Amino acid sequence: MKILVAGGGAAGFMAAITAAQQSPDHHVVIAEKSNQTLSKVLISGGGRCNVTHQPLDFVEFSGNYPRGSRFIKKILHEFGPEDTIKWFEQKGVKLKVESDGRVFPVSDKSESIIRCLRDQAAKYRIQIRHKYNFICCEFKSGSWEVTFNDDTTEHYDRIILAMGGFHKSVAYDLFRGMGLKVNEPVPSLFTFNSPANPITELQGISVPQARIRIEGSKLDWCGPLLITHWGFSGPAVLKLSAWGARWLAERKYEFIIFINWVANISESELRALWIGLRDSKSQATIGNYSGIAMPGRLWKYLITNSGINLESRWAELSNKAIESLINTVIRQPHKISGKKTFKEEFVTCGGIDLSEINHQTMECKKLPGIYIVGELLDIDGITGGFNFQNAWTTGYIAGKSAGSL
Ligand SMILES: Cc1cc2nc3c(=O)[nH]c(=O)nc-3n(C[C@H](O)[C@H](O)[C@H](O)COP(=O)(O)OP(=O)(O)OC[C@H]3O[C@@H](n4cnc5c(N)ncnc54)[C@H](O)[C@@H]3O)c2cc1C
Repeated sequence: MKILVAGGGAAGFMAAITAAQQSPDHHVVIAEKSNQTLSKVLISGGGRCNVTHQPLDFVEFSGNYPRGSRFIKKILHEFGPEDTIKWFEQKGVKLKVESDGRVFPVSDKSESIIRCLRDQAAKYRIQIRHKYNFICCEFKSGSWEVTFNDDTTEHYDRIILAMGGFHKSVAYDLFRGMGLKVNEPVPSLFTFNSPANPITELQGISVPQARIRIEGSKLDWCGPLLITHWGFSGPAVLKLSAWGARWLAERKYEFIIFINWVANISESELRALWIGLRDSKSQATIGNYSGIAMPGRLWKYLITNSGINLESRWAELSNKAIESLINTVIRQPHKISGKKTFKEEFVTCGGIDLSEINHQTMECKKLPGIYIVGELLDIDGITGGFNFQNAWTTGYIAGKSAGSL
């Protein structure tokens, strides 16, 4: 059987290797548009490749996908994070789980993952063609006739489309032309710009547990927050950008956020604490004593923004001043205007609608013999290894069904 995999990324390799494993008689070809396969794997995870996330209960694991969560939950039992870890370890790549659940090669080098995938492709005699674009396909005389960028055509029994996500809507015309429903692409996983915001002078300061809420929406996330020279970054911002990807795009990335810098303390606890300090720390200057865990420079900034003198003593603080301090510390508004990619790491929200796909095989319901995998589908996860897991899971299922006789 002749099987074409269009796209030599993580999902394409997993699909091609799994398809080739189904029978030694299969002729599997990977057609890659660029001059290098697995280029995203190489730069992923800051060059370390966050291969997957530690195995969790499927409901919890799939809760990390803003798009495609229900679909992923249905297919993880076929090839989940535990299978990914086993797959690589059985092929000699030692993996480790970091304290936040991210899984990396022990070598801390994405090359270990690339070498493993390329060795497997060589073992199963998968033909890899570079600078070879899949242009279109048509069902003719019992098989799929594929046209490539050099105008040549070839016939294949099965085709696995693994071209990844695209920024531009026009890139999906090929799939619209095949009669497939496409959800408009917008970026996910980005940081927030806050131009001319004086807080950016505190760049480099981070807090472990902040809460960010977006005005006029239900978007709200808690986690580490970092002040940068352009605005705000850190896991809380990235996660919010993923969950709010489409809502934020519709507003052209112009919105207001409210930051609670001490998300682990309730408003009433904070009020009681600071009212108590009027007695217990009456002579301490406010600028030098906060009673809470907070970087000193951020504390001084927030006091000044509350209209309180840094040199005032706790005993001198009126109820009104305490309310003003509470408001600044737990719900100061910041205007966001624009976004930036995080270490060039972004994924596409949008892509081929999951209603087009049979989740048991990854085959297109309307186009028998055509399978779709990876980020080309409308599935994306938050950071932490969830996006590669989508590539491994969907790639494996498509490879297994496309390669079955
Ligand atoms: C900088 C960066 C770091 C990341 N780090 C991580 C991480 O550590 N962990 C994680 O889980 N996720 C990470 N991600 C996300 C992850 O890389 C992607 O979700 C994943 O690579 C998607 O795999 P894919 O095979 O579907 O697509 P891709 O990896 O994008 O591969 C698609 C391939 O198809 C090729 N192609 C496109 N069109 C055609 C065509 N017409 N014909 C032939 N070939 C074509 C492309 O050139 C490409 O090689 C990162 C993303 C970026 C950008």
